[in-house]
Amino acid sequence: MAVERTLSIIKPDGVAKNLIGDINRRFESSGLSIIATRMMQLDAREAERFYEVHKERPFYRDLVRYMTSGPVLVQVLEGDDAIALNRDIMGATNPADAAPGTIRADHAESIEQNVVHGSDAADTARREVAFFFDEKQIFSRPAQATRHDDR
Ligand code: ATP
Ligand code: MG
Repeated sequence: MAVERTLSIIKPDGVAKNLIGDINRRFESSGLSIIATRMMQLDAREAERFYEVHKERPFYRDLVRYMTSGPVLVQVLEGDDAIALNRDIMGATNPADAAPGTIRADHAESIEQNVVHGSDAADTARREVAFFFDEKQIFSRPAQATRHDDR
């Protein structure tokens, strides 16, 4: 398994529901390290560019409105197989299809208001990390960073 970086966003509904601690505990107890973090409110242009791949989809306008509706927490996660591992921790896009115990199964309201974003592949992870962070804002952990199994 390779050490990877992936971009995570705790979306406006996740921040509004006070889920930052719950979500970050899930990441850390699964062996992911939070190596960059930034709270911000996206403006429409940023949200449009970030979700550009969906611009022809019928939900695009609503998605941009939702993603700009309040502050988000944008983070870089690092660890073995981080991209797929984060997607597993998040659960399926539609909470009705999300596996029990995942963030979306536990907390998402709908296929749109689904609490978290995670990069879906190595190339998108690179693009999305660079979208929000300069390399000097990212702080990789030493290899021996430990996982918390104790809570
Ligand atoms: P994300 O990219 O946010 O991690 P994802 O990869 O699981 O989620 P995508 O297909 O990339 O899902 O869709 C991006 C986001 O657009 C979803 O997370 C959700 O907020 C919204 N979305 C996706 N499909 C729909 C839909 N059918 N109706 C409304 N909103 C949707
Ligand atoms: Mg996606």
